[in-house]
Amino acid sequence: MRKKIVAGNWKCNTTLQAGVELAKAVTEVVKASGDPEVQVVVCPPFVHITKVVETVDNNQVKVGAQNCAAEAKGAFTGEVSAEMVRSTGAEYVILGHSERREYYAEDSAVLNKKLALALANGLTPIYCCGEPLSIREAGTQNEYVKKQFEETIFHLSEEDFRKLVIAYEPIWAIGTGKTATSAQAQEMHAWLRGLIAGKFGNDVAESTSILYGGSCNAGNAKELFANPDVDGGLIGGASLDANSFLAIVNGYN
Ligand code: PEP
Repeated sequence: MRKKIVAGNWKCNTTLQAGVELAKAVTEVVKASGDPEVQVVVCPPFVHITKVVETVDNNQVKVGAQNCAAEAKGAFTGEVSAEMVRSTGAEYVILGHSERREYYAEDSAVLNKKLALALANGLTPIYCCGEPLSIREAGTQNEYVKKQFEETIFHLSEEDFRKLVIAYEPIWAIGTGKTATSAQAQEMHAWLRGLIAGKFGNDVAESTSILYGGSCNAGNAKELFANPDVDGGLIGGASLDANSFLAIVNGYN
């Protein structure tokens, strides 16, 4: 069975103290009433990670970074390497988020280097893909995301590909309050799973978790998660409140 995952992307929010409190609150609510079949992940800012790893109960909540460097180490001021992330005890890393692609000009070449380093250091990449509004309006979203796969993850070995978690995040739905409809999410997830099957075979496709991201919240998670190809969510805004996040974690019930 595919792993169900709900991951919180805190983005550039929370002080260290507020982040630790949030991690504590998430752990408590998940422990008390979270769906045991859903792997919960929180992705705080880099400087919080060590403390958050100490704060959560690893059996209930895993920790991830929101990014890592495209270089292994050296004179790259301000960068945080995959090895550093892994050395904190964090297990996941979000890569290819549309905000990184758009605001920090992360292209496929950079993303490929990051993916290779994350995998080499034992991190599970949460690989983000998704189309902008103009592409959705033109109806060419499938081809757009296929190209993203071809440029960044289809060259991986089957062994490495199996380590990925995919997050489909239509850019027009991120932080906008405008969610993809349940049907739009299912359609794209099924198409992506078919693409993966075509490249790596059915067994890989059937075991790859494909998360939905984009204004997913306590009110719409159930409907989105009811789809057979939606294996959870990557959650931005709604992950900053433990109870809202819990409601999403429990979206399969
Ligand atoms: C995200 O940043 O990955 C995201 C899905 O954000 P939001 O839930 O706020 O749309």
